[in-house]
Amino acid sequence: MTDQLDEAQLLEESERTASIERVGARLAGRGSIFCQACGEEIEPARRKALPSATRCRDCQQRRENWRRMKGTR
Ligand SMILES: [Zn+2]
Repeated sequence: MTDQLDEAQLLEESERTASIERVGARLAGRGSIFCQACGEEIEPARRKALPSATRCRDCQQRRENWRRMKGTR
């Protein structure tokens, strides 16, 4: 029955890690469910592809355009 116990522990462990990561990410300011610029929810697909994204695609694009306009290399 050790296998079952291990599985249960593993599940519990992964759930705990997931919730810590969620809170930690918010506290650390990296990764966000909502766009920091406009407050809209960031597409789940974008969050999955870019876990550290804090802006929606539109706002990120605008920011990059703005940086390019300022001539930042
Ligand atoms: Zn946005």
